[in-house]
Amino acid sequence: MTITIPLVLRTLRKRHTPPRAFLQFRTPLDLLVATILSAQCTDARVNAVTKDILYPKYRTAKDYASVSQRELEHDIHSCGTFRNKAKHIRQMCALLIKEHKGEVPETLEALIRLPGVGRKTASVVLWAAFGISEGIAVDTHVLRLARRLGLSKAHTPEGVEKDLMCKTSRKDWGVLTTLLISHGRATCTARKRQCDVCPFRSTCPSSWIAGKKDRTRQDPRSYP
Ligand code: SF4
Repeated sequence: MTITIPLVLRTLRKRHTPPRAFLQFRTPLDLLVATILSAQCTDARVNAVTKDILYPKYRTAKDYASVSQRELEHDIHSCGTFRNKAKHIRQMCALLIKEHKGEVPETLEALIRLPGVGRKTASVVLWAAFGISEGIAVDTHVLRLARRLGLSKAHTPEGVEKDLMCKTSRKDWGVLTTLLISHGRATCTARKRQCDVCPFRSTCPSSWIAGKKDRTRQDPRSYP
């Protein structure tokens, strides 16, 4: 039996109730900043920094654009790569003020023109903050799960996104992302496939219970 997207959605909905976004936010700008901070950093660390430091201090694009590079670096240093992240946040907020009256735009095209914002970040913000489905945010969990479950053979986030978008009804793009992330964190982790407790154990093409190899390891490229 082939694993289909409707089956994945049905099955994982019974096991997980993921939040709309794993990063805590009050406004679209909060989510945009938090998503930039989350590159190579855990959601737990970002949520701690935003809750304790950023959100009490910064509310508008002007707040971020007018702070010094040094001060913002200090505020976000525990999130890693803080120099680049601070630079991107300040430049992004300056552009929001210049071209969007300080507001976060609601189109993919406008979002990916902002410094530090790629397609994945734009998709997360559009769906979680505005309820708009423009893409599927492929992070390390989504990439790994899509390959292990046989939903995609692509090796890049762009290729996996294209495959998943073709097979998934648009209204489910956002929830598919958060369900795959939840399953990737709880059961099918990068280090360990817990196939013995997984609902896909008998049909998954990477299930060791069914005597299969990990499909993310079947080529020389490395996967997270
Ligand atoms: S059966 Fe194993 S490899 Fe497949 S999704 Fe479940 S835990 Fe991952």
